[in-house]
Amino acid sequence: MNGNLLIIGAGGVASAAFAKCCQNSDVFKEIMIASRTKSKCDALVEKWRASTPAKLHSEQVNADNTEELIALIERFHPFAVLNLALPYQDLTIMDACLATKTHYIDTANYEPLDTAKFEYKWQWDYRERFEKAGITAILGSGFDPGVTGVFCAYAVKHHFDEVHYIDILDCNGGDHGYPFATNFNPEINIREVSANGRYWENGEWVETAPMEIKREYDFAEVGKKDMYLLYHEELESLVKNLSPKGLKRIRFFMTFGQSYLTHLKCLENVGMTSIKPIMYEGREIVPIQFLKAVLPDPSSLGPRTKGKTNIGCIIQGTKDGKPVNYYVYNICDHEECYKEVGTQAISYTTGVPAMIGAMLVMNGTWTKPGVHNTEDLEPEPFMEALNKWGLPWKECFSPDLVD
Ligand code: NDP
Repeated sequence: MNGNLLIIGAGGVASAAFAKCCQNSDVFKEIMIASRTKSKCDALVEKWRASTPAKLHSEQVNADNTEELIALIERFHPFAVLNLALPYQDLTIMDACLATKTHYIDTANYEPLDTAKFEYKWQWDYRERFEKAGITAILGSGFDPGVTGVFCAYAVKHHFDEVHYIDILDCNGGDHGYPFATNFNPEINIREVSANGRYWENGEWVETAPMEIKREYDFAEVGKKDMYLLYHEELESLVKNLSPKGLKRIRFFMTFGQSYLTHLKCLENVGMTSIKPIMYEGREIVPIQFLKAVLPDPSSLGPRTKGKTNIGCIIQGTKDGKPVNYYVYNICDHEECYKEVGTQAISYTTGVPAMIGAMLVMNGTWTKPGVHNTEDLEPEPFMEALNKWGLPWKECFSPDLVD
């Protein structure tokens, strides 16, 4: 391999991933960060240049344009591209990787602009072409999806013969002091939480109204929080991969505070979360994109956010005929993250696994031609890297269960 990595995007997640790649200069010898707004890339290069032996570069790129991406890849010759732009750019970047035979890693599945679908089918369709080209694509190497898939693969391998129930719990106990703001890209975040909920039980998908199913859970180092059932993209791949292990049900829950939910309801009621274009003063605008423009930039939340995240998987099943309940989770402190890399914990918990996915592709551990979700590959190297690179995990064999 050469040690060149191309990172696309320069938002919150890319800022954290770029800082972690700079720390890991044994693997990443030259790093280029390219995004729509070049000044953000320049600022990151300036910030980290003195602290790393890695050579750093910045560029402007429109990642909606495959030809532009191909030209950039041909100039820099990266071993892999780490896509930390938005889900809308996944396919153009995958096309550019195919054309140049370059490995690919991302953190969120492709979404068409006009429908919030959260399906892997578009990217899974690239499987054969990536296999033939001899290149690897790792899909969803963030925390959820990403670490949650690795947690499940690790649990299945080490603690279960059969897996029956999985609950993925994503708790953000952080407080940024604003009445309403989103912790990552507002458009993507609001599309996700305002969609119908969905979980999988006894071979079928069960749909719910948004936020219809609510539970309370007492999270370690955070405390009691209300959490709501959402559809989340890793459910699709985990159902496919774990059904042969006896899976009966898988759900995803995320915590939300009352202020967030009240504001969201109000914004929904007045049509501000719509992804359908409307005419405004002779110009077409998309309400949710306008909303994004008036909300606080997630990267500005870093210095104000206090508290911790706790994200993990509760897995129930059997080993040697005996019942096993297993909880594996990570706790991350917003203020510690900000001190280390200048972002809050949501960007950090996504950026670190993105760096780890890229590292495992760069050093050959996860290089396997084709298109893979994180649970398809060996979990141990990823689990070790989480401990080493800032997201240590804990396990427990007597967790409180979610009813
Ligand atoms: P941001 O909005 O902060 O950053 C997105 C970046 O992509 C911005 O720098 C933006 O440029 C750039 N960008 C957007 N469109 C283009 C384009 N056409 N060409 C080039 N660059 C472009 O988002 P986040 O950092 O919060 O999120 C990044 C990704 O991470 C998203 O896909 C999100 O869904 C995913 N994510 C995954 C999580 C997980 O656990 N798996 C959790 C959180 C996020 P500009 O600066 O000009 O706006």
